[in-house]
Amino acid sequence: MKRKIIAAVIAGLLLFTGCSAEYSVNGTAGGNAGDSAKPADTTEKDADPLADRAFDRVIYDAMTVPYMSLRAYGQHAEDALIAGEVEIRRLDDLLSTGKADSDTARINANGRGTLSRDTAYLTEVSLDLHDSTGGAFDISVYPLMELWGFTSQFEDEKDNTGTSRREAPSDKEIADTLSLVDASKIEYDAETGGIILPDQMQIDFGGIAKGYTSQRIADIFRSNGVTSALIDLGGNIQTVGSKPDGSPWKVALNDRNRGTFLGVVQVKDMAVISSGGYERNFTASDGKVYHHIIDPATGYPADNGFSVDASVSIICSDGTMADGLSTSLYVMGPEKAIEYWRAHSDEFDFVLMTDDDKMYVSEGIEDSFSSDTYKYEIVRK
Ligand code: AMP
Ligand code: MG
Repeated sequence: MKRKIIAAVIAGLLLFTGCSAEYSVNGTAGGNAGDSAKPADTTEKDADPLADRAFDRVIYDAMTVPYMSLRAYGQHAEDALIAGEVEIRRLDDLLSTGKADSDTARINANGRGTLSRDTAYLTEVSLDLHDSTGGAFDISVYPLMELWGFTSQFEDEKDNTGTSRREAPSDKEIADTLSLVDASKIEYDAETGGIILPDQMQIDFGGIAKGYTSQRIADIFRSNGVTSALIDLGGNIQTVGSKPDGSPWKVALNDRNRGTFLGVVQVKDMAVISSGGYERNFTASDGKVYHHIIDPATGYPADNGFSVDASVSIICSDGTMADGLSTSLYVMGPEKAIEYWRAHSDEFDFVLMTDDDKMYVSEGIEDSFSSDTYKYEIVRK
């Protein structure tokens, strides 16, 4: 993934939960450092001589692939970036299924345990989402992820065109594994953080962890006095405030790795998070392509109108919800996704792109979204 810090929503090739971040720093980008001759007594921003100066931090995974970029503006930016990076490391250690000491690995190994504050919060949000999405979002889908070979630990075999090739599991394997999946059977005590999983069930926060991480970083930035920042976790964007000049951030939505954009959405203090079957998939010998967002109703990759070549972008002030919902609405397919939005339209907005290139934009972002590439339908309440 080679991306500068532009606000393009591009699919992360590496799942958050799989990355052991090494957190090297790629230098500090300069901004308008000389542009500091401003009156000291107007607004707080004017009083900050570094108000429009950008500080960047790029974070690398264990394979030295840059997978997270943080940009913050202003005199508090450098401290905030360090704190943000520490938080990414902490959450990676806590949530990675691939790290034996993580909360998730520990619970999966023992079938029970007590969750730390962050994991408890994610569990609560995930179980609520499981309820409200009619089971589309299910953290207990992990055994299926393992069966399909979509975990972070699984090593893809790629051909010389870079295409991952392997065979799909058998119907029987899928049915057997699917019988382990049902988040409503998780026993969770919100008071104590105690959790008990049914025999052989395993959980993973891969569908929601990136959004939570970016939300946490945004909170840390704000509490460090940063009023303008852009957090880019593998193409999932969280913005803090507006651009230093007061104008909204322009977030371009990746058009399914086709090198173009679906469009641009202008936001302030929002997360813009996308899910897509194009992000991770493999091709079987019969040519069929299988992707990594699994429908817990069938055990197969979601195929309700959003399959390998679709994308779902969620615009929401809460990054955790944005991430959970992007996965959930993907599983639902366009019709149910729109129905779900109508019942929750004050909580988020969306840009949906189906496999057959039909694009839908919810009315809350009618004025802030534009596309030069596609015609789209505005969905109203
Ligand atoms: P995202 O890119 O946010 O849509 O997340 C995709 C990841 O979420 C997958 O790699 C899995 O770790 C996880 N996942 C896949 N299917 C589901 C599902 N139905 N519910 C919850 N998490 C899922
Ligand atoms: Mg998600």
